[in-house]
Amino acid sequence: MEFSILLIVVVSLVAVGLHFLLRDRFQTYTAVNCGHTTQKSGVVYIFGRKCFGKIPKNEDGTVDYCLDCLANMSIRCAWCGKPILIGDPVTLYTPKDPDYKPDWGNYAVYSQDPLRMVGCLHCSPDAALDRAGFWVPPGEVKRVLSPIEECLASNDGASITGNVFDSGEAIPFEE
Ligand SMILES: [Zn+2]
Ligand SMILES: [Zn+2]
Repeated sequence: MEFSILLIVVVSLVAVGLHFLLRDRFQTYTAVNCGHTTQKSGVVYIFGRKCFGKIPKNEDGTVDYCLDCLANMSIRCAWCGKPILIGDPVTLYTPKDPDYKPDWGNYAVYSQDPLRMVGCLHCSPDAALDRAGFWVPPGEVKRVLSPIEECLASNDGASITGNVFDSGEAIPFEE
């Protein structure tokens, strides 16, 4: 008798646990901005490469874009051609040659005068210090102070730069 009650309790607990696990795994959302039905995470194709994507959830539990739309907002670095995904940190270098044009498409120009192009943080060893923003929906640069700009802006000339990949630690900057 007591054993069967214990069994029922254990089975119920396992069922509740599975329910929460599976709900998070398979629950679908209707993205607020694009209107597509999407899972929170899953496989996407970015320039033909298979990637695992995860959608950042809003505070109220909604999502702005579906996995495919977020994947389609990816661009390629203007200097090395590597993919730049939504949420990635970027540089905004000016090419030495004013007529510079990458051999591939899908790169992004941040400004025409002066000409500044969106690049990734992988193609030069100094790029992390020049991180100037983040690539955000619907496919634009959210400008933040670069670590060097943060240093120049601080009163005592010192700057504590945390993780350059963390947009939460970056200082927003309007141009
Ligand atoms: Zn969509
Ligand atoms: Zn690059």
